[in-house]
Amino acid sequence: HTVTRPPPTPSPLRFSKFFQANLRILVTGGAGFIGSHLVDKLMENEKHEVIVVDNFFTGSKDNLKKWIGHPRFELIRHDVTEPLLVEVDQIYHLACPASPIFYKYNPVKTIKTNVIGTLNMLGLAKRVGARILLTSTSEVYGDPLQHPQTEEYWGNVNPIGVRSCYDEGKRVAETLMFDYHRQHGLEIRIARIFNTYGPRMNIDDGRVVSNFIAQAIRGEPLTVQAPGTQTRSFCYVSDMVDGLIRLMEGDNTGPINIGNPGEFTMMELAETVKELINPDIPLRIVENTPDDPRQRKPDITKAKNLLGWEPKVVLRDGLPLMEEDFRQRLNVPSK
Ligand code: NAD
Ligand code: UDP
Ligand code: UDP
Repeated sequence: HTVTRPPPTPSPLRFSKFFQANLRILVTGGAGFIGSHLVDKLMENEKHEVIVVDNFFTGSKDNLKKWIGHPRFELIRHDVTEPLLVEVDQIYHLACPASPIFYKYNPVKTIKTNVIGTLNMLGLAKRVGARILLTSTSEVYGDPLQHPQTEEYWGNVNPIGVRSCYDEGKRVAETLMFDYHRQHGLEIRIARIFNTYGPRMNIDDGRVVSNFIAQAIRGEPLTVQAPGTQTRSFCYVSDMVDGLIRLMEGDNTGPINIGNPGEFTMMELAETVKELINPDIPLRIVENTPDDPRQRKPDITKAKNLLGWEPKVVLRDGLPLMEEDFRQRLNVPSK
């Protein structure tokens, strides 16, 4: 028994003579942290037209201010849980709050964004024959029983916990991507993004790197959530954007882990921030939140072999770049 796949619909733009040289790219969630850096990179290529769709839940126009009014750029206020009609060749589908305090704020909406939002973008990709990339997450591995995590690992996820709207939402989004690929022949790409940091992160989004840097600049104690031995691996945003573009342009559907394998305990991260930014501040152990994964580190063999990608910026070089951005936004010049 063989399944015959319908051939992918050719993109009306990619095959039209007039636009042959141009690529029109949709970035959902393009006003957010990673999205806006991706837009900056895509706009560097004069053959790209970029359309950003964002509902500004966690993103802001400020992140895109240098492009507003540019002839190759368009910004549309739109919620991806509603259908969208545009004509594009590629879709980078990032729209979804990424920080626990935001995705837990309205968990039902988070699920709708991941499920209905991804369904709509797949429907769009199908109609116009566009290639679509989903930014999934290392959270699909849950509290992993395999370390480091390879793409083959199926994960250890609580289906009914407070993080589930995000974790399970992304897992369904991945499933939808593969079903549209198998059933409708869509060209799909899935990136499993590990913790990413850099300029333009929300200052008050409760994530560990943004918290520690803001606290160090404000002269407040660094809040290490207990026990402090839990680990994460932090990827600088320019490396992340480079990986996403390589994945989109390459021939592999993924899922592919994109992250920095350098692994740190939260205590080590706090010590590093303290040393680099403000040696006078104390560390304070505070209560943790439920279902916090104990360790996380990507196996990036696949990204290395298939995309020729590996991160270049080490934590000690990335943190000062973020500090500079935070100082400007917090209006606290360095001493
Ligand atoms: P972010 O919150 O800065 O950006 C998300 C953007 O999506 C925001 O601009 C927000 O306004 C927009 N958005 C949210 N819901 C929407 C909706 N229903 N319709 C339209 N727009 C909507 O987060 P980020 O860190 O830039 O994350 C981008 C993507 O990468 C997300 O899909 C996230 O799940 C994934 N990711 C991020 C990380 C990380 O460490 N930052 C890790 C794993 C995965
Ligand atoms: N969709 C969209 N833009 C398009 C095409 C489809 O937002 O250009 C939405 C559509 O409203 C539907 C979803 O994508 O909710 C899935 O579309 P598909 O055609 O795959 O399924 P169907 O409409 O047959 O359920
Ligand atoms: N964390 C911390 N102090 C903070 C915020 C977070 O020690 O002020 C810890 C948190 O318990 C977790 C890790 O940092 O173990 C990463 O948390 P974050 O919310 O940044 O990302 P995620 O849990 O999604 O990886």
